Amino acid sequence: MKEKNIFCEICSEDKIDNFTEILPNAKVKLVKCNSCGFVFIPQHSREKIEYNNYRDEEVLKSVRAANNYVRFRRHKLRIKLIKKFKKSGNLYDIGVGWGHFANTAEKLGFDVDGIEISETMHHYATNDLNLKIDRGSFYEIPVKENFYDVITLWDVLEHLERPLEVLKKANRMLKDDGIIVIQVPQIDSKVAKIQKEKWPMLSVEHLNYFSKSTIKFGLEKSGFKVLKFKTSYELKLFLMFTVLPLLKRKKQKATDKEVSISGSERQNFFNKFTNIPKPLLLLGLFAHDVAYNFLSCINFGEEIIVIARKQTV
Ligand SMILES: [Zn+2]
Repeated sequence: MKEKNIFCEICSEDKIDNFTEILPNAKVKLVKCNSCGFVFIPQHSREKIEYNNYRDEEVLKSVRAANNYVRFRRHKLRIKLIKKFKKSGNLYDIGVGWGHFANTAEKLGFDVDGIEISETMHHYATNDLNLKIDRGSFYEIPVKENFYDVITLWDVLEHLERPLEVLKKANRMLKDDGIIVIQVPQIDSKVAKIQKEKWPMLSVEHLNYFSKSTIKFGLEKSGFKVLKFKTSYELKLFLMFTVLPLLKRKKQKATDKEVSISGSERQNFFNKFTNIPKPLLLLGLFAHDVAYNFLSCINFGEEIIVIARKQTV
């Protein structure tokens, strides 16, 4: 019998006996590499996700209806963190998405480049937000080397099939003292440990489930030195992926059954919280920032932000 295709992207382990299946009741098949501890969906169980058409017209409508000031405030927290290490300079965002982070970075003093593969998202980022970003696959696109001060990946690395290749390419793009900033779901976070197989971050789209030690190991193998870890809990994702399904399940009395929720439905649900009178909104945003920083301080969250510097030999 032909052996199933399995390969640890972090330490190159490829013997099938050296992987252990974990969380067998989760909706995705997960294995842990016995050599380095990296958790991922094995190559032979992956579904093909078509990122070229990621997000449809309906989602675009609800994204356009959302409050841009809320986004600016959210991303300002990220820029504040980056500015502790780099005050300004050339920033490259891998997986720009709708472009609100890149837009905020530009407004707050960075020269921004980036790449997005999804046509709808790229269209919005370039037309609605006037960003100058490329469209395509990061693996293939020619890039400037030794040019960037900061490279960012916000909720992107978990989607990519060859994370180490991405980190190594990013490393070449950075100047000698350049930094990389990565946010990924964290498999050894408090929320993941509490929710186990019910953790909403377990998804067919997320191939890689980094822990503090495996992201550090992956970064070191790609020529980086970790400077800082920070716990992150995205309130928006909590509302869209935990609160909304809960409300829907209750309404449909579909106890434990999976309810189907479209991307636009999630965004519209979030919009309800942000399309409110300005004084109330400002109060809400203040409360959000306090809550976000507090949770981060006590290490309660489901994602990790890692900041690492390019190592020069
Ligand atoms: Zn491994």
